[in-house]
Amino acid sequence: MADDAIRCDACPVLCYIKPGRTGSCDRYGNHEGKLVRLDPHVVLDRALERGESVVPFLERGREWDGTLINHGEVSHGETFVTAIGAGTTYPDYKPAPFIISSQVEGVDMVTVVTEGIFSYCGVKVKIDTDRHLGVECSTVRAAGEAVGHVTTSEYGSQMLSLGGVRHLTGGSRHEGDATCDALLNLCNGNAVELKIDDGVKVVVQAGRAPIVDGAQEERMRVGCGSATIGMFAKQWFSKVDDVVVVDDHITGVLSEHQAGKLLGVRETGIKLKGRRSTPGRYFQVAEPGTSWGGTDIDDPLTILGKFNAKKAWPGLRFLMVSTTGEHYAYYELGEDLKPRVKELPADLRKSVERIKENCEPALCTVLFMGGAGGSLRAGVTENPVKLTHSVRDALTRVTCGGAPVYVWPGGGITFMVDVTRMPQNAFGYVPTPALVAPIEFTLKLADYAVLGGYTEDVRPLSSIVSGNDGRKRVSAHADNPWPLEAGREGKGRRT
Ligand code: SF4
Repeated sequence: MADDAIRCDACPVLCYIKPGRTGSCDRYGNHEGKLVRLDPHVVLDRALERGESVVPFLERGREWDGTLINHGEVSHGETFVTAIGAGTTYPDYKPAPFIISSQVEGVDMVTVVTEGIFSYCGVKVKIDTDRHLGVECSTVRAAGEAVGHVTTSEYGSQMLSLGGVRHLTGGSRHEGDATCDALLNLCNGNAVELKIDDGVKVVVQAGRAPIVDGAQEERMRVGCGSATIGMFAKQWFSKVDDVVVVDDHITGVLSEHQAGKLLGVRETGIKLKGRRSTPGRYFQVAEPGTSWGGTDIDDPLTILGKFNAKKAWPGLRFLMVSTTGEHYAYYELGEDLKPRVKELPADLRKSVERIKENCEPALCTVLFMGGAGGSLRAGVTENPVKLTHSVRDALTRVTCGGAPVYVWPGGGITFMVDVTRMPQNAFGYVPTPALVAPIEFTLKLADYAVLGGYTEDVRPLSSIVSGNDGRKRVSAHADNPWPLEAGREGKGRRT
């Protein structure tokens, strides 16, 4: 072009990039008239992992101990070429940017890598907390824009479903950009503040504790109220006359619960508000909230009715405690059978401490979920459906930046990956808007030929690692299975 600008064709935006400048996504630039991928291409090295150079992934403040490959040595089976920084297959009919062969214990393997552009993608967020974040289906916002919704809660955790094609492309430009930005930050391990309609503000960061309305969550509950009664009934027996474990879902009462019955705990005439499900198990004792056991109560006595005068007695001792042990109060009945708050006796304090001790640290988990579409698959083989069959038959191993993925059963290649198992900053974006995520397919070279792969574009591992051409070698994640081993061991029927 007249002004020496070059056109990037790595995504549908088709930026014109002037010399020394970068395109809209900052992933590609014009370097002396050549289109270059700006981030280093990441290669995993298993030997580095063995050499104690692994930096725990959660130490976000530190970079991995990446060193440039410059010695030209290739250790077959010990080096894995990821798609991070590899570049993208666009517009579709081109082979993937790198199709690398290597020998693993005498077997010829091939790894096809590409940075996929995912318009159909999102994240599933698991937030370990009892606190009520918002009612199911409530809209979740980032920077004021709708980016997802609250979905079905799980045991001890609240769940969010963020992103997806409707938020990325089906709303306003602002909504798409805010969604893309939130997904990118979450996937790259950064903290994102989310606001739930008619609910809380929550700061989410993969591998870190959630911060709910400014308070950092510490513990994930030991169980529901009923389970907590079952677990600790023996420790409470004879030290106290009754125990109520306050929980937004199932509040437990020791004297009525089967665990208390089996121990011979005497009836106390205690009366709970809410809906009795089965003996000693109550639903809906209060509204959901961010206080005692994920309810809205600050005073636990508000969930009790009057004690039954025929069964209760003056001096009756009872403990009320939340499912994390964070909230607790001890009472004794006066002559009028009304509770008086007292100091918690030392032997009961131990049981409250034991509940806390049994609670795991509260964390946020971020799973990226995406669908490898037809165009991405076309970069692997001229007959894309054969790749899907090969993945389903476990002949082809899918990884994301070298991390293991869960591939959903059914059609297509829809997968999920825990972002904390991937190298740092593995994700990018394009302004369409869509997320860019690494994806690698590893299989036997012979199987690759059978499924119609671009065998003429296969090049040996040595051809790329000896060049020191903007590549970065990082240690493999210690907890991940080694992708080449797993691929080699794939079983199943041939396509
Ligand atoms: S947004 Fe990025 S990938 Fe897309 S054309 Fe521009 S520079 Fe290339």
